[in-house]
Amino acid sequence: MKDFTYVSFASRVVFGAGSVARLPQEVEKLGAKRALVLSTPGRAADVKRLAATLGERYAGLYDKAVRHVPVEVAEDARRAAQATGADCCVAVGGGSTIGLGKAIALTTGMPVLAVPTTYSGSEMTWVQGFTEGGRKRTQFDPKMLPKTVIYDPELTLGLPAATSAASGMNAIAHCVEALYAKEANPVVQLMAEEGIRALAASLPLIVRNPKDMEARGEALYGAWLAGMSLNTGIALHHKLCHTLGGTWNLPHAETHAIVLPHAVRYNRDAAPEAMARIARALGAEDAAQGLYDLEVRLGLKMRLADLGVPESDLERAARLALEAPYPNPAPVTYEGVLALLRNAHAGLRPG
Ligand code: NAD
Repeated sequence: MKDFTYVSFASRVVFGAGSVARLPQEVEKLGAKRALVLSTPGRAADVKRLAATLGERYAGLYDKAVRHVPVEVAEDARRAAQATGADCCVAVGGGSTIGLGKAIALTTGMPVLAVPTTYSGSEMTWVQGFTEGGRKRTQFDPKMLPKTVIYDPELTLGLPAATSAASGMNAIAHCVEALYAKEANPVVQLMAEEGIRALAASLPLIVRNPKDMEARGEALYGAWLAGMSLNTGIALHHKLCHTLGGTWNLPHAETHAIVLPHAVRYNRDAAPEAMARIARALGAEDAAQGLYDLEVRLGLKMRLADLGVPESDLERAARLALEAPYPNPAPVTYEGVLALLRNAHAGLRPG
């Protein structure tokens, strides 16, 4: 048994089909009287219907959440929170919406109640990514951890198959890196391996039938485990995705899906125990190839080129990724990262 430090933060999790009906009671439990409800523009109509169940505790809807939380949007949302006299935020949506709730919590101390509708895992973390001047940065503060999380698989039935698949791979990426992160510990490793297993089992069923409630529940359970794993630490894979996502404004989950098999291949020899656990959870011989093959089955885009990243930008991406690198099992070199990015750009199966 290696030495480790394990930090856990308290949050209340309510899980189950139909559990969002408990939203008003859960807001009350937080001691809050006026909830600002957050959403992306595309989800605003559905979220408004849900917000109506809050009755007199509904302070207003802010529906301008966008990916990677630009600082200008965070500022605008804080002003809206103030203007409506809100004393808590209810973030209904994916990582973009929950990230916006965290931005409000960071400066106002307002509690966030998260109702995740994707598999990003953000609702379980005290980390937040934001963009400023076209660069993505990460901040950490326990104040940002949602106090309550309602996981209701019914709310995910409308998440399109392709978005579900990509988001599920984003969650698997959290589990994967928790297994070999510098701060890895045996408790989180249990959650991370189980998270990969649950997601790898359920995602193909969801792609076949997005209304499969059993599979939706299993995937959301995997996302919960992934979110808890993410607090442990991240490595080269997340660094690459943050660099690519922030600088080229790429879709977050799709970028994770494309890079993951290649980042795992990069770390194959340096993290054999993690590789064995990933492979076991996938039911595959090899971790990197197993992830790649799962993504092919899910019908995901496999090439960075598919996201519109020009091949001529890869050298710049590799240089940026080497600025302030995260700890990683295999040494991070410019040549190594460039080769990884070239493989991801072409969508090659890891050798
Ligand atoms: P997202 O929140 O941007 O959602 C993707 C799209 O799906 C959006 O258009 C959204 O409106 C739509 N959508 C969400 N739920 C839906 C549903 N049930 N039905 C139909 N459409 C739905 O994407 P995401 O991948 O969940 O989150 C990405 C963002 O989250 C990034 O900014 C990333 O940095 C952040 N993130 C943060 C953490 C963390 O711990 N801090 C973890 C993962 C991701």
